[in-house]
Amino acid sequence: MPASKTTKLNTGAEMPTLGLGTWRSKPGAVEKAVEHALKIGYRHIDTATGYANEKEVGLGLKASGVPREQIFLTTKLNNTDHRDVPRALEYSLTQLDTPYLDLWLMHWPAPMKDGGPDKEHDWRDTWRAMEKVYKEHPEKVKAIGVSNFSVKYLRDLLSFATVVPAVNQIESHPSCMQEDIVEECRKHGIVVTAYSPLGSDGAPLTEDPVVKKLAEKYKVSPSNILISLQANRPGVNVIPKSVTPSRIEENTKIVDLTEEDIQELATIEKKNHIRICKPFWTGWGAIGFPDLEDSEQQ
Ligand code: NDP
Repeated sequence: MPASKTTKLNTGAEMPTLGLGTWRSKPGAVEKAVEHALKIGYRHIDTATGYANEKEVGLGLKASGVPREQIFLTTKLNNTDHRDVPRALEYSLTQLDTPYLDLWLMHWPAPMKDGGPDKEHDWRDTWRAMEKVYKEHPEKVKAIGVSNFSVKYLRDLLSFATVVPAVNQIESHPSCMQEDIVEECRKHGIVVTAYSPLGSDGAPLTEDPVVKKLAEKYKVSPSNILISLQANRPGVNVIPKSVTPSRIEENTKIVDLTEEDIQELATIEKKNHIRICKPFWTGWGAIGFPDLEDSEQQ
């Protein structure tokens, strides 16, 4: 399967299946990582206002020399910006130094202020404000979507939305596949972007014995198996993060896994269920994530 594969969004746009993640990619390193990725053929970059690196991502885009219209650029509305959606968009466009975003996501359905939950603000109003900006300024935002939306939250949103989100970006890897959310998204033509595909910082899932065994079978690295697992799922794309040039290159190899391989990878979650991005830090507790109710205690 070529790394140039794309997934069609409900807007008609093609979103490259493989993108470069940039969470915890520090200013300095991230600029070089984005430049390198684009120079070797990546055409999809994922950032967020919350990563505090949009400016450097923008510098990397420019340094690559790749024309803007060939790049699919995603950023996210910060949890602290739910009350001022138009201003947040202008901030991202200015930081990234770009006239438009290919995709703008609500990072979490969790408005925050002063380091805690903003209980007087409803995330539904945030979505309505994002719809308004999208409809009034198609030249600035090509598609809108959500992130960290469970099935419950998606159904709630779809009950009132006038724009169906193009994408739901969620955590997904063999220790947390979230097949229920992927299924629900497919039903509504929403593309899923799988984040933390390697198990996040330090890529712990590359050490899993099942992943290592399949890496040997296909003569690729464990990271290729984890990335391929997501890229092989219909309607799913994947955004591994790296600031290391050799890994950015390595991560572009995508292999066609068999149904048997996929089933074997799915056994990992049964033994070892891990969710990395727990919503308790937002102060909203396990919003929409019933399996995380205990995490409020952490
Ligand atoms: P990943 O699962 O992509 O793992 C990143 C880690 O793996 C880094 O430590 C990186 O190290 C290492 N790594 C990368 N490639 C390899 C390789 N080939 N071999 C060994 N180690 C490797 O984690 P993230 O949590 O960063 O998720 C990916 C992206 O998803 C984020 O960067 C962000 O863009 C997005 N995301 C979105 C969230 C949301 O709420 N919407 C939440 C979390 C992530 P190094 O960089 O040093 O090479």
